[in-house]
Parts: sequence; structure tokens; C-alpha cells
Amino acid sequence: MPGEARGARGWGGIGPQLAARLAKLDIRGPRDLLLHLPLRYEDETRLTPVAMAREGESCQCELTVISADVVSRPRRQLVARAADDSGELVLRFLNFYPQTRNQVSPGVRLRVFGEVRRGFFGAEMVHPRVRVVDPGEPLPRALTPVYPTTAGLAQSALRKLVDAELQRKPLADPLPAGLRERLGLVALAEAIETLHHPPPGVAPEALQGRDHGAWQRIKFDELLAQQISLRRAYATRRARTSHRLVASGALTGRLLGILPFALTNAQRKAWREIAADMAGGHPMQRLLQGDVGSGKTVVATLAMLQAAEAGYQSALMAPTEILAEQHYRKIAHWLDALGLEVAWLSGGQKKRERRAMLDRLAAGEADFAVGTHALIEEMVAFPRLGLAVVDEQHRFGVRQRLALREKGGDGADPHLLMMSATPIPRTLAMSFYADLDVSQLDELPPGRTPVVTKLVADSRRDEVVGRVRDACLQGRQAYWVCPLVEESEALELQAAVDTHRHLCEALPELAVGLLHGRMKVEDKAGTMAAFVAGDIDLLVATTVIEVGVDVANASLMVVEHAERFGLAQLHQLRGRVGRGSDDSVCILMYARPLSASARARLKVIFENRDGFAIAREDLRLRGPGEFVGARQSGLPMLRFADLERDVALLERARDVATRLLADDPAAADALLEIWFSGREGLLGA
Ligand code: ADP
Ligand code: MG
Repeated sequence: MPGEARGARGWGGIGPQLAARLAKLDIRGPRDLLLHLPLRYEDETRLTPVAMAREGESCQCELTVISADVVSRPRRQLVARAADDSGELVLRFLNFYPQTRNQVSPGVRLRVFGEVRRGFFGAEMVHPRVRVVDPGEPLPRALTPVYPTTAGLAQSALRKLVDAELQRKPLADPLPAGLRERLGLVALAEAIETLHHPPPGVAPEALQGRDHGAWQRIKFDELLAQQISLRRAYATRRARTSHRLVASGALTGRLLGILPFALTNAQRKAWREIAADMAGGHPMQRLLQGDVGSGKTVVATLAMLQAAEAGYQSALMAPTEILAEQHYRKIAHWLDALGLEVAWLSGGQKKRERRAMLDRLAAGEADFAVGTHALIEEMVAFPRLGLAVVDEQHRFGVRQRLALREKGGDGADPHLLMMSATPIPRTLAMSFYADLDVSQLDELPPGRTPVVTKLVADSRRDEVVGRVRDACLQGRQAYWVCPLVEESEALELQAAVDTHRHLCEALPELAVGLLHGRMKVEDKAGTMAAFVAGDIDLLVATTVIEVGVDVANASLMVVEHAERFGLAQLHQLRGRVGRGSDDSVCILMYARPLSASARARLKVIFENRDGFAIAREDLRLRGPGEFVGARQSGLPMLRFADLERDVALLERARDVATRLLADDPAAADALLEIWFSGREGLLGA
């Protein structure tokens, strides 16, 4: 591919073009080759007589070619007949190089490796790997590694590169021998050698399942390197200075006094942790984590009041206009009552209004700001920013968080409070979030009625519409969530507009509103306000309502094509109802046929209410990528360890990380060098 090599530089005798291909596999230096470990192994240490070959299993046979012909029907292909003492096997090559054509000729002795199928014409192998051998040629004694590879890079070439690297000086072990022994781990060089060249006699299953001691060592080091790099990042940020936001509790006490509810124990505990962080002289880096409806906003508001009492500004940033607006309304409502003013900043706001807000913030006259990412734009100046709150933090990138930090001015970092309603399973919190302190709201405010979830095939749509009519005529309100169309926002919008029209026609007795992401900001706000005021009975919406919308009288939700949504999304959506004291129902409509994974998701959401249980299942079904979200950009992902299966290793790695960082920083450095070679990216943010 011309141009492919542009920008890539060779290394260690490897030219730029090959280097570019290797880079696609994240191999950027000799050490990366060593850690490019096999995906699986093939067993070429044995020969299987054709007659004994089992359907669907890979095996190796040694055969003599009887005939070989290029036929052109049904399409051009090379078809050879070959046999050993036990029987005959057809070898079929749909695409083949001239070299293969030459190798596979009558009388030649071949070793073929592939999967045997038994069809109408007897046993055959399609696209076997073939090698010409002399009679009596010894078999390999070890399993053959199969590496993940990429276009233009043959297995055999990759194998040679790895082998050449293995011939060089073995890697120095980053872990001290004593520690290694105590942990019962094999030496790193030995583990690497074993995985690339399993010794004779090792069963493929032992390696495949990644339980083998060699894998344990690799996975342990990977987890340990992750722990160490995240802890270091934490410590680096922690070493910076922040203003001590100490307060007597006068303002926060006044808010607590006017709230119509008492804080839950979980809220109280989280609030204590946050208050203590803010009073310290180092930047808080805390994640406030709590299921939908657990009451994070009030905790954030308390933090903002503490900052204000200490004489500093605070800003709360949310990822969407709707969500930011909800926060603004709630916080302004509370702070109004205390005679305090909240500035509102969003991308869609009128120029003049925006200018006025900016001026007040810049002059230090406004202590509280709520908004979208408009808050971190260049022109927004906070002369005394002491606290930044980021809601739904996984939707923001590391860069945006950094930008917020830079707003701190005067050399001190603002304290950072991140909030997330996506519950993070414990193992994930222990690994990918090891660079944050976490406060957990593991308790919902009392008096919530659990939402009843129903799964309904979309053939019963009329019944569902009838149910919406009944509920709304009894004075309740409902959401109708339109199908997600991943491929196209235009189609998604169209689906919402169509659904709205149909529902208006089907329910002439109801006021039906429409809310979607493409509406003008003031139209969105107007529609939401009408829904909050009860002037709209049924709100048809795209997933813009996914997070944060809070209307207690809404007790029925219909989700169309629920099978297209992810688990976290469904859980968030469902959390929009069940906020008042009415019995709430969430109807998940699905269309057949359901894929296996869609079926699995619907089952999980139907059977579980608890966000943590759902998150655990989600992690199991999909892996950590989604949870980590935008954080991913700067975070070392795990290639070998599995958070579900390797909890014990993870726990040990966490303990060892603490000890190593304290007692043997050189060992920690060596480990990071092997795993990341200076590629830790934006971790420090
Ligand atoms: P989330 O954690 O999903 O952001 P919110 O902060 O929006 O949740 O809170 C959900 C609702 O519960 C809001 O109406 C809020 O005022 C209310 N709430 C918060 N804390 C309590 C509490 N301790 N008791 C009763 N209601 C509460
Ligand atoms: Mg919220």
C-alpha cells in the first residue's frame, strides 16, 4: 500500500513499511514484539490419520498427492486428492498462489493442517495450510503459536520477527526475586519464552484458557503496571496545590434547612468525604458515583456552597443542554431561596445574555455557574474558580477535564468532583478508576416505588397505546422513547417525527409533545417546561431524555425497539420514571427477530433493578470499553487480563503496587518501561 509507511520510522533493522504495519498491532519497538503474545496455538506435534480426523476439529495429516486439477466450476479453484494409509482427503483451494499449485502435485508428500469436513464427496479440507515434507521428517515438538496479525503481515513473518527478538538478551525481570517467589510467579523471561514456544507436552487447553503459570505472570504484570501508572498519575495531580476551601457550614447548613427532605446516610457520608477533600490544600479528584435518582445533585450543590462560603467560584458542567438545564433549574431553585444567584452558560444561549453572564463571572460577581461544555471555552474566565463539578464524567474527554483545570488561574488547581450514574463494577473501579477517589451513593432516597418492567412484542403496539391513553386520562404523564438509529441521525430524527405524528393521530384526546436533539434550544426548553408543568401528557422523545430529566408525575415509559439500546442506556431511561409515589411502569417494546445478544440484554434489564447488578452484567457481556468511555484515550487498556476472571490477581496487583511504589520505585519504573515505554498519554490529566 503506497503511503502506508508515511510517517513511520523503522527500528532495530525493521524498515519503515514493516514498522507501519507493526504499529497497527501496537508494536513499536523490540519489547513490544516480546509482549505480542499468541492468540491461540495449533498442535502440529501430532499426525492424525485421515480416517480418525474429527469433523470440525483442526488437525494435521500427512498425505501423498494422487491428483491435482484446477477446475473452473462452480468457480476457479484448485482441487487435489490425497491419501494416507487410512483414507482419502480432498484438498480444496479457492484462492491460491502459483506456488501452491506447484507444491500440490501428484506424488508429492504433504503435511496439511486444517479442519476436516465430511461432505457429499467424502472428507475434505478447505484451504489447509500445506508444507512439502520428506518422508520421515520429524514433527515439531512444541505447539505452534498463532499471533494476532494484520493485512500484509504473514503469520510466518511475524513469527520470525518474534523469534529473532527472543534470541537476543532476555528481558531483565522487573520484579525482585524475593517478591516473585513470595507471589509464586515464574520469571518474566521464562513466561514470555513459554508462551511463544510452549515446551513439548504442554496441552493446548492449558495455554488457551490462560490459566497456565506463564499467563498468570503476564497478566499479573499487566495489572500491576496499570495500577502503578494510575497511582502515579494520582500522586502527581495530588502533589499540585489547591485553595483550602474551608467553611463553617453556614451556607450548607442553610440549604439543608430548607430542603424538603433529609439527606440519606449515603449522601451524608459522600458529603463528608467531599468536604474534607476540599478543605485540604491539594486538588480533590473524586468520583461521586450513584445510581439514577440517588441524589447526586444536592451533594454537588453542597460542595458548591462550601466553595462559595470560602470565597471561591464553582462551576457545574453537564454533557447536554437538557441535562445542564435541569441542573440549572434545580440548583437555581435551591439557591434562590438562599438569596444566591446562579449563572447559566450554554452554547445555544442568546449573545447578549451570554455576554452578561460572562461579565459577571469574570468580575467575580457570580459565585455559581452551571452549563454545558460552553463553560470551558476560552472566553469564559473564572478569576476565583475553586471547584469544578463534572456530571456524567465518562462523556467528557480527558482534554475537557484538563481545560477545566486550567480555568483555575492563579496557579492553583480547582478541586474536581466528577459524577456518574453509570455504576462502575467493583473490579473496574479497582482498575481503570484507580486514579480517583470514589464516593458511593449506594442507597436511594426513601419512598421510591420500584418500576415494574414489561417486555412486549411490538405486534401489541395498539394495546400499549391504549395503556398510555388510560394512564394519561387518569392524570399521569408518560414518555415514549423513539428507536435508536445508530447509522443515521437523520433517520433517527425522522423516526421521532413519524412516531409523534402517529401518536397525535392515535391519541387525539391527549396533548402530545416532541423532544429531539435537533430542536432549537429554546424550543427544547419550552417543551420540557410544558411537560414539567403538566401541559403535555405524553412526551415523545429521542434519547435526549436519557440522563437527568426529573419529572415526578411521569410514571409510564414506553421504549420502542428496546432491543437496539445498550444496557446502561435502558437502565438510565427506566430511571426517568419511578421518581414519584405512583406505581411506575416501563414497557420495553421489541421487534423480532431478536439477536442472541439483544435477548441477553433484555433479560438482564427485565430481571434486574439494581444498577450495579446491571453494570456487572454489562461488563460481562461487553467488556470494559464502554464504561471507561472517553477516559480510554489516555488510559492503559488491558490486553491479557480479564477483570471478571482475574479478580484475585487484580487484588494482589493492587497491594503489590502500593508496596513497590513505596519501597522500590526503580522496579516500578522498569515495569512501566516494559509495558508502556513512555506511552502513558494523557494519564496525568
Ligand atoms: P441523580 O443522582 O440521578 O442525579 P438527582 O440528584 O436528580 O438524582 O435526585 C433525584 C431526585 O431525588 C430529585 O428530585 C432530588 O431532589 C430528590 N432527592 C435527592 N436527595 C433526596 C433525599 N435524601 N430524599 C428525598 N429526595 C431526594
Ligand atoms: Mg443527575
